Amino acid sequence: MDPVLHTPARPYEPDSPLAYLMEIAAAAVDEEPEDEQRDGAETGAAHHVYAAYAYSLAQAVDSAVWQGYPCVREHGARRFEASAVALLGGGLWLHHTLRVTEADGAHDVLTLIAPCTCGRGYADITIDTEDVLMEILAELKPTYGRSLHDDQAPDCHSVQQAPAVAGWPRSARSIG
Ligand SMILES: [Zn+2]
Repeated sequence: MDPVLHTPARPYEPDSPLAYLMEIAAAAVDEEPEDEQRDGAETGAAHHVYAAYAYSLAQAVDSAVWQGYPCVREHGARRFEASAVALLGGGLWLHHTLRVTEADGAHDVLTLIAPCTCGRGYADITIDTEDVLMEILAELKPTYGRSLHDDQAPDCHSVQQAPAVAGWPRSARSIG
């Protein structure tokens, strides 16, 4: 499940009592304000791409394109770390977050999300290295960036909607 896509829009005003209470609660559990989480996620994603994908993503994806999202909490516990997305065109996008474990600390997790040829959802593909990215892109090239639907093991229904990214044309959000 993708954390970005399941974060509902905030239904209260930034100057409402609830917003204020949320800030107090975040401070009480020692959490960064949402804005700082977003900034941190954007910086983290851009840095990872420059460091690990110097010949591909670093050339093609401007660091300003990343849009950050705060972490997602569930029942008070941190369910997903803050994340950032970058739209690539053609309905594809990148998702970057950190996987944090007590044993190993923080690891970058980069995912390429591509619309499925069936038109009903997206496939998410974890990218480990620049070589893997090149292989995946080569596979997607004949279908112009669409992931081939597999009836035997459909993997295109976990992500059904592209993220809303400010300034991006509306038409880019639809799969068709
Ligand atoms: Zn499909």
